[in-house]
Amino acid sequence: MRQIFDIHGGIHPPERKDMSNPGWVSDCDMPSKLVLPVTQHIGAPARPVVEVGDTVLGGQMIAEAQGPVSVPVHSPSSGTVTAIEARAVPHASGLTNTCIEISLDGKDEWIDCEGLDNWRDETKAALVERVRLAGIAGLGGAGFPTAIKLASDRDGGIHTLIINGTECEPYITADDTVMQCFAQQIVEGTEILAHMVGAETVLLAVEDNKPEAADAMRQAAEALEIAEVVTFPTKYPSGGEKQLIEILLNAQVPSGGIPADIGVLCQNPSTAIAVRDALIDGKPVTHRITTVTGMSLKDPGNRRVMLGTPIRELLETAGFNADSADRVIHGGPMMGFAVTDLDMPVVKITNCVLAPTRTEIPPPQPQQACIRCGMCAEACPASLLPQQLYWYARARDQEQLERHNLMDCIECGACAYVCPSHIPLVQYYRSAKGSLREAAKEKLRSDNSRSRFEARQERLEREAAAREAKRAARKAAAEARAQAGDDPVQAAIERAKAKKAQQEAEQ
Ligand code: SF4
Ligand code: SF4
Repeated sequence: MRQIFDIHGGIHPPERKDMSNPGWVSDCDMPSKLVLPVTQHIGAPARPVVEVGDTVLGGQMIAEAQGPVSVPVHSPSSGTVTAIEARAVPHASGLTNTCIEISLDGKDEWIDCEGLDNWRDETKAALVERVRLAGIAGLGGAGFPTAIKLASDRDGGIHTLIINGTECEPYITADDTVMQCFAQQIVEGTEILAHMVGAETVLLAVEDNKPEAADAMRQAAEALEIAEVVTFPTKYPSGGEKQLIEILLNAQVPSGGIPADIGVLCQNPSTAIAVRDALIDGKPVTHRITTVTGMSLKDPGNRRVMLGTPIRELLETAGFNADSADRVIHGGPMMGFAVTDLDMPVVKITNCVLAPTRTEIPPPQPQQACIRCGMCAEACPASLLPQQLYWYARARDQEQLERHNLMDCIECGACAYVCPSHIPLVQYYRSAKGSLREAAKEKLRSDNSRSRFEARQERLEREAAAREAKRAARKAAAEARAQAGDDPVQAAIERAKAKKAQQEAEQ
């Protein structure tokens, strides 16, 4: 039996997972229209390849990836493109994003999807390209393009693949449900992923508060000799990639690094299914399983929902009582953010829509002064110093924020959860991270323009030197010829003189 390790910090908030009845999934009704943002992933936005008035089919690409870190977007059903414009989208920044609106015709007609007869016969590059074209980005909520993770070939390669079924955040049961209902598809996708990266070990990681999911995975994984289902004690946030690797392998991902740096790849169970669907069925990502829960709903549960479905319509299928809801949250209570407009769509990273009542999750209390109690540091799973980060974020001290590894913060909210002064620490960190990223971009821009300027100067100096060298060479050659008696100018003068003398002689 595999030895399990503990992580620093962590908390045990009330789970409230039973509310959404994990293990059951129902289809969300087909909405009348879909709103599909061109950015549902980390990276460059996709570029629309349809125009207003175009008819589209389910599975058709409507926006293509731009650049290496990007994924395309596909229509989940058939209809007509009715708008391409900026709309409110689910994102912590609250910014708008270009969206493609599709009015559905209700026929749900699809393109012909062509899967591979035998994916084992394909090269890794061909498989990765299929994953990229299928628009797959981490469906656990991170949204990082999966093809990039699969293609990254670090020194030593990938020795361990972890299917991360931890789902440690309260309320959310989408992964639990996917593992219980679609274990076979997860294992098929896992086999493909392990083949692609050459992993010798496969761990299917499940927290011990999901025994049915662990059993279903164990049964399905029997045929996969290299796979092992591992359960471990429930603690938030065990599902962070770096934390999970520590729990399972007792290994640390270096600060600023990624799991591939130590030969590990983590994937979410739904992402594994998406890879399976892309390669075996030839289908892109157009739907996802989302938990819709909270006490302001009569019928919370897990829904299979088309991407682009307005959150309002998803809530209505669950009997939403707007009067009793205090707010609507995209994601869970720890890492989620408030939905400011219910017409925002469900996107690839929407693992949960939470509509709690005011008594269920009380509104944030007024912030008070930090009393330097140190409880935040005890709770931090990344072994950071949240109190110091808070002060440096307030002081906009970017040097100290970098020195204290702000970018290693996984924004889990454990520090804010235990803070007796109700300081919204994660908001400070998100904002400070944004400033650090901007500063890094600005530095890159100025480094690039300095390099361009220096390269231009060097080129101009090189060209001037080359011109000078040519001129000097011509002069030296002329002088040499003159010295040798074959000065061309002198020769021309002599020829002219001779010709004139000849003409005079003939007269
Ligand atoms: S838990 Fe809150 S009050 Fe205590 S040190 Fe951290 S930030 Fe300050
Ligand atoms: S939000 Fe960041 S600083 Fe706070 S506990 Fe989580 S990792 Fe640590």
